[in-house]
Amino acid sequence: MRILIFGPPGSGKGTRARLISRLLKIPVITTGDMLRDEVSRGTEIGLKAKEYMDRGELVPDELVIRLVEERLHRPDCSGGFILDGFPRNLRQAEALDRILGEMGMELDLVLNVVVDPEIVVERLSLRRWCPKCGAIYNLKYDPPKVDEICDECGARLIQRSDDREEVVRRRLRVYEEQTKPVLELYIERGLVREIRGDIPIEEIPREVEEVLKPYLERD
Ligand SMILES: [Zn+2]
Repeated sequence: MRILIFGPPGSGKGTRARLISRLLKIPVITTGDMLRDEVSRGTEIGLKAKEYMDRGELVPDELVIRLVEERLHRPDCSGGFILDGFPRNLRQAEALDRILGEMGMELDLVLNVVVDPEIVVERLSLRRWCPKCGAIYNLKYDPPKVDEICDECGARLIQRSDDREEVVRRRLRVYEEQTKPVLELYIERGLVREIRGDIPIEEIPREVEEVLKPYLERD
């Protein structure tokens, strides 16, 4: 199955994407992670991308399209994939149509995770990240045992610059403005199913299985 997943930053779409990945045995392709990886390795794409990410802005289309195109051609995507964070605008959506067309593939499903923006602001501005092992905490919902220290490796936790409240609000506005027309495009094609981003974590698997069921039965 070839799936796209949409949802504002902090909607929990990453959790859902990983679940679907395990269920269907397909890779999750997360443009945010791919970009952060380029940044940490200091590649040409990474250095360019960092300037935009630090300001809470979206990375230019050419860079992201290049990354995604290369990724989709790897052999592990032949049985399907779940794309998280792409396409974010109509230009990227056109690029995805072209890439998939050239590969003789079509999209099966577009998931849209819907959540109240204020919940997102609270979730993200309280998020802390371990720069050493990558563990993620939330100071209110999932705090480390010792204040600001990673349970796993003992490193001091940091707040990522794009999780600061004012940056989160800007990211939400940018997301809303840019993604709306893309979602409308996929709604017109009859591909979109909504899932809720504000349900308790233990109910997520059941909801995900529910939405995938018709597709799994079809195969
Ligand atoms: Zn750690």
